[in-house]
Amino acid sequence: MDHHATRQPYPYVRRPLTEPDWRRLPGWRDVTAAQWRDAQWQRSHCVKNIRQLRAVYGGLLTDRFYEELAADQAQFATMSMLLPPQMLNTMAPHAPTEPQAFTEAFLADPVRRYMLPVRADRHPRWPSHPKAERDSLHEAEMWVVEGLTHRYPTKVLAELVATCPQYCGHCTRMDLVGNSTAQVTKTRLELRPADRQEQMLDYLKRTPSVRDVVVSGGDLANVPWPQLESFLMRLLELGSVRDIRLASKAVVGLPQHWLQPKVLEGLGRVAKVAARRSVNLAVHTHANHVRSVTPLVAEAARALLDVGIQDVRNQGVLMRGVNATPEDLLDLCFALQDEANILPYYFYLCDMIPNAEHWRTSVHEAQVLQDAIMGYLPGYATPRIVCDVPHVGKRWVHQAVAYDRELGISYWTKNYRTGLELRTAQETDGDSADSGPDALLARRHPYYDPVDTLPEPGRRRWSEPCP
Ligand code: SF4
Repeated sequence: MDHHATRQPYPYVRRPLTEPDWRRLPGWRDVTAAQWRDAQWQRSHCVKNIRQLRAVYGGLLTDRFYEELAADQAQFATMSMLLPPQMLNTMAPHAPTEPQAFTEAFLADPVRRYMLPVRADRHPRWPSHPKAERDSLHEAEMWVVEGLTHRYPTKVLAELVATCPQYCGHCTRMDLVGNSTAQVTKTRLELRPADRQEQMLDYLKRTPSVRDVVVSGGDLANVPWPQLESFLMRLLELGSVRDIRLASKAVVGLPQHWLQPKVLEGLGRVAKVAARRSVNLAVHTHANHVRSVTPLVAEAARALLDVGIQDVRNQGVLMRGVNATPEDLLDLCFALQDEANILPYYFYLCDMIPNAEHWRTSVHEAQVLQDAIMGYLPGYATPRIVCDVPHVGKRWVHQAVAYDRELGISYWTKNYRTGLELRTAQETDGDSADSGPDALLARRHPYYDPVDTLPEPGRRRWSEPCP
């Protein structure tokens, strides 16, 4: 026995990845390995509604589960249901086959808890924070052209598409991404994709101070490959862009997409041009629990690196009931780092969107978690836990400049102007004394902890009109 490991608060043990056997589920009993690896088969067998979920699980899930799911879709869901078989298969992989026991294991499953929420998951008293907003990061307000958010001085976010191969219950872009739900009518992108991309490229040409482009959505796996390749090649023609980051949760949710020869060949062509021009080309993905990291995910990440992508990085989301313990975070990070060649990069606090309180953690809890995971992974692979503060941007959780723990309000500063502030300054005739660098740093922006995590006096205050 390795006493050095077992006597640590987190006992590190290297564990091989496993692909759960999909044939344990009645609806996929006859699915072959070749079908499973086929991206088209995965897409055409995605589960989009309760009828399809019943067809996969047969009698394994109780009627009560389906009632709770239907109630959630009617009363709370901000994202519609869309689950590739790959993703569904990672839920409750070792559950017993007796329906009551299977349902309990399924309900407790961390991937199920954020990909397939049911009513009983939501907080009964505080499903939403009083300050929650649909576009909680105000990204659309910072669009310089439709879908292009210019928030930081040298970086932009380009949203090419408003759909994904999978929909996550906690999606920050719930305002825009996916189909409307009973509770949320989605905002629609209005420009044709080609026109939107033209306008984005035109803006970037006119704005050489932007050196870093996050190409995202939605999920890039839903952009037809020739369209994505042509956008990336044109981006590479702009000498000013030095970093390109491609965002796709599908590396984890639908790795079969990124394993398709036509996609890998195309990426290889893009990577060659990027290397010739010394542009850093990386892929960012989104795994929240070690169960999602399977051999197919590792194979997809390896294939991306093999065709010339410089780095595959993970940006997870910290969520209660999913991964908000040191063990869960470290198990995930070690699986990514040791077995899948994916760098554990960030964990974001779950954003303040409606009906997300049961997932959100307080800043204090996140600070404790950050401390707990230090020292186990190599420094460069130790993820930072960050809070995306509205009107500020990503901040490491220990960067709060003040914190009222009773009311759960932390305060944050920034050292730059967002696109929104620059536009306001322009409209009000340039710099005024209160928008100079000192004034920018002095301004404190609030962020709010989930009310149910506060001490009783704080909860009482939030029960009254907003403090
Ligand atoms: S893949 Fe990303 S953009 Fe799509 S639903 Fe999930 S979190 Fe939202």
